[in-house]
Amino acid sequence: MKITDVEVRCCRRAPDAFDTSAFRTGDFAAFQFLVVTLKTDTGHQASTFGFAGRSAEGAGKLIADTLRPFMIGRDPRDREKAWHEFRTADRWWGHLPIYAYGPFDTCQWLLSAEAAGQPLYKYLGAYRDSVPVYGSSMILKEPADYAREALRAKAEGLKAYKLHTPGADIAEDLEAHRLVREAVGPDFTLMSDPVSTYNLEQAIRFGRALEKLDYYWFEEPLYDEDVHALRELARTLEIPLVGTEVLAKHPYSIAECIATRVVDRVRADVSWTGGVTGVMKTARLAEAFGVNCEIHTSIFHPAEIVNLHCCAAVKNCDFFELLYPVEGFAFGLAEPLPIQNGMAMLPTKPGLGVELDWADIDRCTVAIV
Ligand SMILES: [Mg+2]
Repeated sequence: MKITDVEVRCCRRAPDAFDTSAFRTGDFAAFQFLVVTLKTDTGHQASTFGFAGRSAEGAGKLIADTLRPFMIGRDPRDREKAWHEFRTADRWWGHLPIYAYGPFDTCQWLLSAEAAGQPLYKYLGAYRDSVPVYGSSMILKEPADYAREALRAKAEGLKAYKLHTPGADIAEDLEAHRLVREAVGPDFTLMSDPVSTYNLEQAIRFGRALEKLDYYWFEEPLYDEDVHALRELARTLEIPLVGTEVLAKHPYSIAECIATRVVDRVRADVSWTGGVTGVMKTARLAEAFGVNCEIHTSIFHPAEIVNLHCCAAVKNCDFFELLYPVEGFAFGLAEPLPIQNGMAMLPTKPGLGVELDWADIDRCTVAIV
């Protein structure tokens, strides 16, 4: 089997479920994404969504110009060869964004799993057939909004809830965390992700408050690259410190983070970590050190379901992350993500196991490069 063609669609889609308060920078106008398709000489093809930052056409052109010549002629089953040759090519003047290679790696895995007649997670080697889901908030306006949303997530059967707080006022952020704990009671699992907004002193104070409120983990209070401060923070706090989702060049960049305990749990996802290969390498590396790799949302549901296949193929990940409320992100798949009673159920059909929503993709396509 050889790859004969690469199609990169640049797509834009207006959000219909949340306003600009959903993002800290306040300039969110549309979802920008790519749809990458690899076609083969056997007549098979595979497609997935790719991240595109704030410019689908800019990202699409850069990525297509670099990765089309790199991919054509390859056997999609030779993923490890492609992984290492991409690493070399990227060092020798490629220097693509962290989200560039993920969809190309994922499509190779989908083609291979389909050719084997297996759902991706079985092809990877399954550990389980369902994964507990947590609702992961957007940035909300008022502290009380988080409490209302956490109650809704709990009522819907989700297994946990994570707050992304505004980061403008540490007392207000803490108030949101306190109100959520009060609302859901002592037995519901809660996590906190301030997304690199505090300094070390603030993070120590904040983390200690979260410990008193019995939060399950404290994620990325400092920038992921502030390794010295993070190591200090991890040593100081009892609550598990989670991070590394935006470090470039997984798994190599996070080997030191695991070995010297910069964080207690690492992060990876198919979009920013180089696809299924990057996630599995990162998760296995962490496993060997007795560390969890909590798989991070990839925002777009066609990529989320690839994350779900990875979640089901590893033991050292507690939850499947789902941006919440789900309505704002429920596009790209022909059917909703398979979630029942707070458990994400793995598809049984070969490959991805779920069709993409091509009518919606056609509507969103602004260029094919
Ligand atoms: Mg995060």
